[in-house]
Amino acid sequence: MPASSAAYRPPLPLRWWQALRAALGGRRKPPYVEAMDAMDAAIVLFDAQDRLVLCNRDFRALYSGLAHLLVPGRRFEDLLREAATLGVIPEAQGDVEGFVARRVRQHREPGAPLLRRMANGRWRRITEQRLADGSLLAFSIDVTELVEKERALEAARAQAQQERERLDDAIEALPDGFALYDADDRLVVCNQRYRDIYRLSAPAIRPGARFDELLRFGLAQGQYPAAAGREEAWLQERLHQHRHGRQPLLQELPGNRWMRVEERPTRLGGVAGVRVDVTELVQREQQLQQLNARLAESRAQLHAVIGTALSAILTLDEQGVVLSANPATETIFGWPEAELVGRDIRVLLPREPGADPFALRAAPVAAPQDLRARHRDGRALAVQLALSRLETAGGGARYVALFTDLSEREAYAQALRDANAQLAHLSETDALTGIANRRRFDRALHAEWRRSGRHGQPLALLLVDVDHFKRFNDSRGHPEGDECLRAIAQILRHCVRRADDLVARYGGEEFALLLPHTDDAEALALALSCIEAVETAALPHPDSPLAPHVTLSVGVACASSAGEPSPAALLAAADSAMYAAKRAGRRRAVLAE
Ligand code: GH3
Ligand code: MG
Ligand code: MG
Repeated sequence: MPASSAAYRPPLPLRWWQALRAALGGRRKPPYVEAMDAMDAAIVLFDAQDRLVLCNRDFRALYSGLAHLLVPGRRFEDLLREAATLGVIPEAQGDVEGFVARRVRQHREPGAPLLRRMANGRWRRITEQRLADGSLLAFSIDVTELVEKERALEAARAQAQQERERLDDAIEALPDGFALYDADDRLVVCNQRYRDIYRLSAPAIRPGARFDELLRFGLAQGQYPAAAGREEAWLQERLHQHRHGRQPLLQELPGNRWMRVEERPTRLGGVAGVRVDVTELVQREQQLQQLNARLAESRAQLHAVIGTALSAILTLDEQGVVLSANPATETIFGWPEAELVGRDIRVLLPREPGADPFALRAAPVAAPQDLRARHRDGRALAVQLALSRLETAGGGARYVALFTDLSEREAYAQALRDANAQLAHLSETDALTGIANRRRFDRALHAEWRRSGRHGQPLALLLVDVDHFKRFNDSRGHPEGDECLRAIAQILRHCVRRADDLVARYGGEEFALLLPHTDDAEALALALSCIEAVETAALPHPDSPLAPHVTLSVGVACASSAGEPSPAALLAAADSAMYAAKRAGRRRAVLAE
């Protein structure tokens, strides 16, 4: 026995066993040693002074390199140092003393079991325990399988965590809103974008929140404009869609924002949903619809205008083939649209050759031109043509031909001219007698005055006044007086011969005769013939002191003889001559001096 173990006294039970073993001649192992050796654990006992008492077979096998040292009385620390130095304990490598110090401390105050990796790569769990007499029992079992399983589990857990983080990152990186609901319709995960989209519902969006609760919260916040006024019905529809919808859903959010919602069942019975912001798309669509509506409206207005226009409006291709024609085309040309479409527009022109107004050119609008056109029945028509060119989307051109029927316009113009002429005539005609009135007489007097002056020709003027016409009215009545004036007017008209001579009613019962190219002698002769013609007519005048019939007094003046300086002077001269005739007893003609 080595010297160090000479002073060693084993504890009492062991001594007892040793005595027993000695008595049996050392042949047999005591039964407890056999039992310990049979155990699948390394067992070692140190006494209160930390000296080896005994160890079992598994322990020896574990530290086989130390077999020669594993004798009772060896100090724990020495054994430990030897094992560490031999490389049996990998964790001691590089710092044997440090390891030994740490391990000895643990050993003195045993606590929780230790886990040790052995040189062969296997794992042991070492449990140390102080016994009542101060000795220390240690045993270790091989936990390699357990440790490896735990390590694998840990690795799997770490990988799962990593994958989860990767998934979260991916979900966050999505440009669209994403939310995953489980089989109970509780929110599992969603990204920030999802919360941003449902801004008004955001306070309720938490993992574990139920989908229908989120909807109700959103409804209360006005998150869904389409639900306004029918919240409960909307909710039911939305829930059904959430679970059974096959088609993407177009969802309106406040502020005319629009989401496309795509929801798909997951393998675990949940629902994965994606929200894509399609606001721009929807708004563009809305604008397009508005534009189309406006376009349709203006197109309808245009059709109404073309349909009711009085002008013929036709569209032509670049060769002049008719593509469309409005109803006025038939009114003007006799061609219904159905028969004109597809024909050359030149069927509307006369057959004789001439400049072709449809030799189409690129000018957007050609100046309107008047031309002869042809009605379907062969009749010639006066029309005005305005031609304009429209560029088509395909790079070609269409033409719009607008025909205005001038014959009708001509007829209107003529009627207007006639009406104006009639008006002019009426404005210079005396309503009672139908001969020229004072206005016409004044105009003629000035015109003839100038003309006679220019040509050095005489101009004569007769002023004719009915004698005692007041008495005529008084005796025969005013209507008879009117009739008498009409009769005298006709008689005087028949007294003049030349086309230039003018007989006018000068006013009341006075008449004026303007006689160009007439000298005093001729004028006086005409005055006398007028007096005679009226007397011959013998218009009864019961109250005349001169005769039983109407008689006249006439003043005669002539521009050449009197050398009058103005029309007014000629008029005044004739008037004086007429009063002279009255003064001289009436029923006569007097030539101005
Ligand atoms: P004197 O011989 O001096 O010309 O006498 P007189 O009565 O003809 O002349 P006076 O100037 O005194 O009267 C003119 C009359 O003519 C008065 C008026 O009643 C009448 N007279 C004027 N115009 C018309 C008319 O349009 N119709 C009728 N019936 N009488 C008219
Ligand atoms: Mg008079
Ligand atoms: Mg008179």
